[in-house]
Amino acid sequence: MKAISVLGSTGSIGTQTLEIAQECPKDFKVVALTAGKNLDLLIEQIKQHQPEVVAIADKDDLAELHQRLKNLANQNKSKQIPHLVAGSEGLNTAASWNTADLVVTGIVGCAGLLPTLAAIRAGKDIALANKETLIAAGPVVLPELKLSGSRLFPADSEHSAIFQCLQGTPWAENARLSTGIPTPGLRNIQLTASGGAFRDWPAEKLKNATVKDATSHPNWSMGKKITVDSATLMNKGLEVIEAHYLFGLDYEHIEIVIHPQSIIHSMIELADSSVLAQMGWPDMKLPILYAMSWPHRIETPWKRLNLPTIGQLTFSNPDKSKYPCLELAYDAGKASGTMPAVLNAANEEAVAQFLEEKIHFINIPKVIESTCEVHKKDLMSNPQLNDVIEVDNWARREVRSFVKRNSHSIALSTFRK
Ligand code: NAD
Ligand code: MG
Repeated sequence: MKAISVLGSTGSIGTQTLEIAQECPKDFKVVALTAGKNLDLLIEQIKQHQPEVVAIADKDDLAELHQRLKNLANQNKSKQIPHLVAGSEGLNTAASWNTADLVVTGIVGCAGLLPTLAAIRAGKDIALANKETLIAAGPVVLPELKLSGSRLFPADSEHSAIFQCLQGTPWAENARLSTGIPTPGLRNIQLTASGGAFRDWPAEKLKNATVKDATSHPNWSMGKKITVDSATLMNKGLEVIEAHYLFGLDYEHIEIVIHPQSIIHSMIELADSSVLAQMGWPDMKLPILYAMSWPHRIETPWKRLNLPTIGQLTFSNPDKSKYPCLELAYDAGKASGTMPAVLNAANEEAVAQFLEEKIHFINIPKVIESTCEVHKKDLMSNPQLNDVIEVDNWARREVRSFVKRNSHSIALSTFRK
């Protein structure tokens, strides 16, 4: 039995993690939950899983959460009120809760950084869904892992696929990821990409893309931010940087292959030219489960893969001119230091501005590029945590000011005419 904490329990990753816990009660027990805003769902989750501690992001929600749980306890609908905490210290308390063995990080964005670090410093193993933490702060997170002995298990489907393929290679004897040491025998990684919402759109049509279009993913059901990242292919660019930090390969050895069916979740090529692929339906529960259960395989009743019903698996190279975010991500990764943190924060802010309809879809990469360009002169090659937080805040301010300065040319309305 493994005791788990779920950060971001009300989101797409969080709810799927809790479904796994419910389906495998002999294997997992939930001891901590953290959530952003959705009190109704959080309360349902508390009733269902009876965690020891619950954190809510906004301190103003604490009194209401407490009162509603008290009412339920009075009506005998909830056995016991968990320890309730709030705000950033509250998130850290829940993330480092002493009875937890493993922390599933399902918070979206760089907001996950400090709670993930709190969990690592407390020696917890991490099932990493919150890729932004590693992308923004790889140079900070990797030494912390070494120091505490925490292990990082990828829950992102592509990185889980690579991790699964690596089992059985000599390197896999060392289960702790993120050593930064090139993996013996591993020559190349091929990350597969579905192509996102606009994969069948000609590039010229992207100027008509709306928020609704960009938030409708053809294969995966996910939170809004990552769905937009999939439409720009920035998600794949971020995953290239994530793979670099997790598996220690140079950027020249991390490639992207468009695979619209999302059945092969990624591939590795070994030194002898053998290529291994991991397959499954596009369902995040499998990579989340493997990150929670490694090295064991837990039997599930989930739908089994049947290749004849799929018939064809197809592959192509990404169109770099249609998806400029790919090159931006490779460039930021190669620049290293604080640049990936700037790329990540600029992307988070640009996507937020797009979701608020303040900028057009095709301007997301322009805003990010301009922000990275300005940062070049201030790049720090070996950042500490404070530096990462500082450049993250700076990049968000820079994007907002860029959008204000250029509102006449990049606003959504301009493109609707
Ligand atoms: P989501 O938007 O569905 O859920 C995010 C969760 O984080 C929610 O519980 C929300 O309340 C919480 N949250 C948001 N802002 C917060 C803040 N400032 N402080 C504390 N909590 C906050 O997102 P998601 O799609 O589940 O993605 C979560 C992470 O997992 C992201 O980093 C994403 O890139 C990664 N990921 C997601 C998927 C997927 O299928 N959804 C796949 C691979 C990787
Ligand atoms: Mg992924």
